[in-house]
Amino acid sequence: MLGATLVILALIAAAWYVAKVGTIFTLAFIGAVVFLAYKRLPLIAFTVVFTLLLAAYTLLPWHAPPSGIWEGFLWLMLAALWLFNIRPLRKALISRPFLKAYMRLLPSMSQTEKEALEAGTVWWDGELFTGKPRFEKLLASKAPQLTPEEQAFLDGPCEELCRMYDDWDITHRRADMPPKIWDYLKSKGFFAMIIPKKYGGLEFSAYAHSCVLVKLSSRAGLLAATTAVPNSLGPAELLNHYGTEEQKNHYLPRLARGEEVPCFALTGPRAGSDAAALPDTGIVCRGMWQGREIVGLKLNFNKRYITLAPIATVVGLAFRMFDPDKLLGDREDIGITCALIPRNTPGLSIGRRHFPLNVPFQNGPLSGKDVFVPLDFIIGGTKMAGQGWRMLVEQLSVGRCISLPSNTTGGSKAGVFATGAYARIRRQFNMSVGKFEGVEAAIARMVGYTYTMDAARSVTAGAIDGGEKPSVPSAMLKYHVTEMGRQVANDAMDVHGGKGIQLGPRNYLGRGYQIIPVAITVEGANILTRSLIIFGQGAIRCHPFVLKEMNAARNPDRRQGVDEFDSALFGHIGFTISNAVRSFIMALTHARFTHVPEVGDTKRYYQHIVRFSASFALAVDVAMLTLGGYLKKKENLSARLGDVLSSMYLASMVLKHHENQGRPADDLPLVEWACRNQMYRAQEQLHDFLRNFPNRFLGGVLRLLIFPGGRSYFAPSDRLGRELADAVLNPTEVRDRLCRFVYRTLEPGNALGLLQEALVMAPSAETIEKRIRVDGVKTGKVTALDVPGQITQALAVGIISETEAASLREYDRKVMELIGVDDFETHEMAAGAQAPESQSSGDDFQVAPGQVA
Ligand SMILES: Cc1cc2nc3c(=O)[nH]c(=O)nc-3n(C[C@H](O)[C@H](O)[C@H](O)COP(=O)(O)OP(=O)(O)OC[C@H]3O[C@@H](n4cnc5c(N)ncnc54)[C@H](O)[C@@H]3O)c2cc1C
Repeated sequence: MLGATLVILALIAAAWYVAKVGTIFTLAFIGAVVFLAYKRLPLIAFTVVFTLLLAAYTLLPWHAPPSGIWEGFLWLMLAALWLFNIRPLRKALISRPFLKAYMRLLPSMSQTEKEALEAGTVWWDGELFTGKPRFEKLLASKAPQLTPEEQAFLDGPCEELCRMYDDWDITHRRADMPPKIWDYLKSKGFFAMIIPKKYGGLEFSAYAHSCVLVKLSSRAGLLAATTAVPNSLGPAELLNHYGTEEQKNHYLPRLARGEEVPCFALTGPRAGSDAAALPDTGIVCRGMWQGREIVGLKLNFNKRYITLAPIATVVGLAFRMFDPDKLLGDREDIGITCALIPRNTPGLSIGRRHFPLNVPFQNGPLSGKDVFVPLDFIIGGTKMAGQGWRMLVEQLSVGRCISLPSNTTGGSKAGVFATGAYARIRRQFNMSVGKFEGVEAAIARMVGYTYTMDAARSVTAGAIDGGEKPSVPSAMLKYHVTEMGRQVANDAMDVHGGKGIQLGPRNYLGRGYQIIPVAITVEGANILTRSLIIFGQGAIRCHPFVLKEMNAARNPDRRQGVDEFDSALFGHIGFTISNAVRSFIMALTHARFTHVPEVGDTKRYYQHIVRFSASFALAVDVAMLTLGGYLKKKENLSARLGDVLSSMYLASMVLKHHENQGRPADDLPLVEWACRNQMYRAQEQLHDFLRNFPNRFLGGVLRLLIFPGGRSYFAPSDRLGRELADAVLNPTEVRDRLCRFVYRTLEPGNALGLLQEALVMAPSAETIEKRIRVDGVKTGKVTALDVPGQITQALAVGIISETEAASLREYDRKVMELIGVDDFETHEMAAGAQAPESQSSGDDFQVAPGQVA
């Protein structure tokens, strides 16, 4: 503040001295405007500075002969400025008429919609909308940590569960997990991570919950998907937050002990993405329940795609509740409501299964015809009737940050862990395939994406543990983490070549690749999430003024409404001017002088985020002002703005993650790659947004303010990519840190452990191989074409020692085992058949679907 005052005084003094030269006065004036707007000082500061400058210009005896029109215009402007500072006048002349026009444009909104929109909290996403994000705030938040109990769970039950899991046996032969795994999951509390301890649950932090899913997912998508669902949006979470004491006391201990298996049914054949349009009904009426006539609900519903439904013992059901006879009150259409329906309720049809892309986790349809249940089956009782949508949206803001981002990150970590090792031990053209530039680029992308995904899921989980319910970040994570996961899966497949394609017990990639579309589709399909949700929700929820303006317009107290609207409107105008100036100045200076915390090597990335934040905020305001509600229909524009927001968010998570980990210097290439990639994407998406802006003139003006020197940001370089690939093609600490929580135990059933073992042996094996090639093959002393033959000959002619021969043979044997794939007789390939060399746990696999429940 002191600095700002001094600069203002200096400007005034300068103007005083040079007042007689009009041009210099103009320059001083522009300088003052730019400075004040850049620093975002209040309107009164601007007015005072303007008054002093104009007074100096006009009154000083030596000033240049005034131009009457010019000076008159300036005094008129000053008068208007002072008027803007007098609130009663400003309200009467500007804010009130403006509010009237605004109210005509504002679409009506039900209470439910309003509550859903306001669900969750605004966190770092809100800062990014300000154009001036305060990184001090983000950096001050605590790094997420595991408690000893949570760590013990990861090292104990999680490790054991991963060891028990046999993917081929489960996905191909049984199409289900064996009873001993189901029992283990239930008895060890895997389904009770979010249930409070007082009800017998584990009550894990969001971060621990996420880490467990990462680990399970690194072993198998099916395991992680099965575990994620009861811990996410569903009966336990809804009961925990909204259930009556009686419901909690009844269900939560039973869910914690695994005596009840929950599912949650929202989707149906007619209502997929547009879930709020569900046609399933619950009619309040009289009926018989356990021999007594009561007022209850008659339910009719048809649901599909419901995870765990085939084996669920209790169904969380979303339906639209009606009270045509007004038995409960005045309202006929009560709204979306959630209830818990026990499996044995008459009329409920449940048990059949879908088959999700060869990853047969329990998933299926369910329906009900005239199912009559008491009103106290409604979660939270009748007082929560009609609150279902708000409940779901509120809880989704937490669950969506954890389940899919963690599962996809776990899968990607496993993909990087395996691919780095495989690309090192797999040789073609006498070289590790990972050393070819093309492969290197794919591995670099895998590493950079996985680092970004891990940063996003862990820092956001830490924020949840700090009390946030970040609804907009939950959509950003859902979309971007799963999309990056899809790319990582593609790259892993490409680098593995045929090894990734041939299914069988030895294939550790195929099922992970197959399950990717599930993550893309559930909890808000990705195209919809990108096009409609991220920016659509963010623009209203996170913008510093939009929600305030909307709430002011809807305030039934008109006087108070005008008052609130006036503050928001004038704050908004100043905010937009400031962002225009900041965007332009930071683009010209490449944000070199932008203030950010002292963070060492990563400082420039903080500065770039601040720059893009100002440009983004400016583009958002111009878009909303000129396109209004039409922006929602222009999905490609909204999607691009959502991408810019997401890129800034993800880059911020990367920077915070690096700080959380104690700034390991070895990780800097990963941080640089990840930030560079995100900021490059932000630049490209913002540029595309401007190029496609419907108003060409405004689009051009914005381009001038945002990219005055064109696009200046470059994607990560090949050199940087090589550093990333090297980090996982070698047994480095970076690789270990990046792949933390991956199930890598060395045991016969775990390809990842075996790959790591071979990777550790690779450097010394390669040295011996090189000697055989140089001293043996090239000199003609070694003539064999195959490796075992070459080892024997090299030993015989004294190129390598006995010990070296033994270790190279051992290495070669392991490599051949790892690059091997399965083959079958036709009858062996049929699902359910005993596979050759199956790693079956030995349980009877004639389990009927659902029997495990
Ligand atoms: C394996 C699996 C497990 C599931 N588990 C559960 C569960 O436990 N409980 C539950 O209730 N549901 C569950 N679902 C349902 C899931 O949430 C829905 O599949 C999802 O909401 C999408 O609905 P849909 O498949 O009908 O696609 P549709 O709604 O038909 O969408 C088709 C395409 O159109 C796009 N689209 C739709 N509207 C828009 C728009 N306005 N703008 C842009 N694009 C749009 C979508 O992004 C999608 O790409 C599960 C689904 C699967 C596949």
